Amino acid sequence: MTDTLPTIVIVGAGFGGLRAARRLRATPAHVILLDRRNHHLFQPLLYQVATAGLEPEQIAKPIRSILRGLSNLEFRLAEVRSIDLGQRIVHTSAGEIVYDYLVFAAGGATDFFGKHGVRQYGHGLKDLRDAVAIRNQILCAFEGATLEQDPARRRALLTFVVVGGGPTGVETAGAISELVHLVLAKDYPGLNLTQVEIVLLEAAERLLPGMPESLSRAARKTLERKRVSVRLGARVEDFDGQSAALVGGESISCRTLIWAAGARAAPLADQLGVPTTRQGRIPVEPTLQVSGNPQAFVIGDAAYLEADGAPLPMMAPVAVQMADAVVDNLERLMRGEPTVPFRYRNPGSLATIGRNAAVAHVRGLSFKGFPAWVVWLVVHLIQLIGFRNRLFVLVNWAVDYFLYDRAVRLITPDTDEPC
Ligand SMILES: Cc1cc2nc3c(=O)[nH]c(=O)nc-3n(C[C@H](O)[C@H](O)[C@H](O)COP(=O)(O)OP(=O)(O)OC[C@H]3O[C@@H](n4cnc5c(N)ncnc54)[C@H](O)[C@@H]3O)c2cc1C
Repeated sequence: MTDTLPTIVIVGAGFGGLRAARRLRATPAHVILLDRRNHHLFQPLLYQVATAGLEPEQIAKPIRSILRGLSNLEFRLAEVRSIDLGQRIVHTSAGEIVYDYLVFAAGGATDFFGKHGVRQYGHGLKDLRDAVAIRNQILCAFEGATLEQDPARRRALLTFVVVGGGPTGVETAGAISELVHLVLAKDYPGLNLTQVEIVLLEAAERLLPGMPESLSRAARKTLERKRVSVRLGARVEDFDGQSAALVGGESISCRTLIWAAGARAAPLADQLGVPTTRQGRIPVEPTLQVSGNPQAFVIGDAAYLEADGAPLPMMAPVAVQMADAVVDNLERLMRGEPTVPFRYRNPGSLATIGRNAAVAHVRGLSFKGFPAWVVWLVVHLIQLIGFRNRLFVLVNWAVDYFLYDRAVRLITPDTDEPC
């Protein structure tokens, strides 16, 4: 590698950053990829780790092994603390890096909307630590319920509240129901499972707002068939670890609250010295460059760009397509050509609600039930990185499907306390 090659720094090895790094393999540049984690995480399957369906290792893969063989790439495990766009310096826990071009792909974070109790006592679902914490919480609640003599406290232990009726909330509520009624029912024969309540709260008047109304209704019906109480127009005020307070005065006694109601850009987006939107996302030019800083690009969840009058969603296909567009624009810049605007091609959306049940909206077509579920399975298997992960996930799914079992019912606390 010679000193005359430009240095491209990519911040974040998620969907966008990883794609950009791979696409730059033949570009004459020194590419430095930074992430505070040593693995790439497939977030769409996090809820299955949280509900004891998959092991954490099955949805993550070491970044170094994914990028093996890319001769122009250097991976550094480091936390990025701030970026000086004017001086073109990235400040990290492992020192400073001067760049010629920057691809900012630091992704998103859970937005608790300032609800301190929800943040402290509830559970977001953004990384493997969150997912394992939810799994521990659900399993501990069942263990606690077997020992609890007081009926009201036992009921609260067996009440699981999921907040947010988007795909993550819908998928999580459906998966908890199947864990409880198909698997834990066999592990806890002494517990009266009619006391279990799984509640999905959504502030808007329908589930899955990104999908057609008919699919929202279908998702609701399927969830209700799976014994999930769906409550629309229900807004959580806060949670104190004992009960969830709703706007309007009602409260739900529960020990478990999973917050799938808000996403914002990663906090690092606040450390670039540029204005951000309400969700902390960085507004970009249509070419994905930061206004006034043409050497800096932002992609994925951290980028704010509107198409057809609405912000592009915080979803994996947006990050991946933006990465492709940025690599093309970087190469144009290096050749001294003008950059071109990004255009998003929506591949559609999918959400599963447990075995044999999903809803899909693809290329204007809506479908549901078993066909949608099969499409969901295939799409997620294809998108998972690594043959080994795909194989293990497939085997796990097959065992779950045919034996009505979940492999990972381990409580793995951080301390010596049992729960
Ligand atoms: C539970 C859940 C389910 C989802 N389901 C779906 C789905 O079904 N379909 C779909 O399309 N999308 C889904 N998404 C959204 C999708 O995962 C994101 O849109 C996508 O990951 C965004 O890609 P990205 O590259 O912008 O960021 P990410 O993939 O989040 O990657 C960001 C990377 O930046 C790193 N990073 C952040 N801050 C720093 C720092 N300060 N220093 C160093 N590194 C840093 C992180 O460690 C991470 O590796 C889901 C998200 C979640 C949380």
